[in-house]
Amino acid sequence: MQKMTNISSVQEYLLSEKRQGKKIGFVPTMGFLHEGHLTLAEAARKENDIVVMSIFVNPLQFGPNEDFESYPRNPERDAALAASAGVDILFFPEADEMYSGSSIKMHVTERTDVLCGSRRTGHFDGVVTVVSKLFNIIGPDNAYFGLKDAQQVAVIEGLVHDLNFPVNIVRVPTVREEDGLAKSSRNVYLSETERAEAPVLYSSLKDAESLIEEGKSIPQTIISHIQNRINSETSGTVDYIEIYSFPELEDIHSLQGEFIIALAVKFQKARLIDNIIIKKSQEEKQNV
Ligand code: AMP
Repeated sequence: MQKMTNISSVQEYLLSEKRQGKKIGFVPTMGFLHEGHLTLAEAARKENDIVVMSIFVNPLQFGPNEDFESYPRNPERDAALAASAGVDILFFPEADEMYSGSSIKMHVTERTDVLCGSRRTGHFDGVVTVVSKLFNIIGPDNAYFGLKDAQQVAVIEGLVHDLNFPVNIVRVPTVREEDGLAKSSRNVYLSETERAEAPVLYSSLKDAESLIEEGKSIPQTIISHIQNRINSETSGTVDYIEIYSFPELEDIHSLQGEFIIALAVKFQKARLIDNIIIKKSQEEKQNV
């Protein structure tokens, strides 16, 4: 594995590999790698000739009161893990290297007025800015994104469509701990008690799935069930529990077609997100 910090070096190297017909798979991350990130890299390894992973804690996607400074970092461990997952090029730029000018500002106008987008002002503007830059630097054929951050997947798919990036977006299912908690770099912020409570988030989403299978079809019924479980079984505070069509993230009044049930819960030092995406055919009989 080669580690590169310089934009023009990585760009030149990959351009010459592409000219030789090599297929490039790209996994953007903010580091502090865990099995979720490594699953993305392994998927990229299977489908491409060269696997590039970026590690960049992007200041543009953090709000003023968020955890940019304290975001967990461990570059040496990350490099060893990336190499073990089959990464060929680890791109590790400094913030000055990525942001040397500010004459253009990107702004996302759809799919961001709900969920994290409506609570984290400017977050997805920062995400599309860095992802556009990374796509231009790396020139990937395939780029891998985790459905743990489902709204991010929806926004990136919009970006690729609107700006005609010649890249295929691969959605990778959420990787979980044995007890169901979605793996996240931020799980290290949880206290021991909070860590024991946190699996309730996924377990309540699975309950919701069962209720829908049983025929419940009114979104508010499902939301109330999840809310009650989180309130009674955890010390966390619900930031949101919402249901939308996926990936459009539009309101739905009945649980039909492809939709997402997504939640965010604030613990003392960590805000956790999770979701499930359900496909329900129109023909299935429903009752409330
Ligand atoms: P991050 O470093 O948190 O920005 O995540 C980098 C990429 O890894 C994003 O596409 C995330 O959606 C993905 N990712 C993070 N956690 C998981 C997980 N538990 N399962 C699958 N993908 C994940």
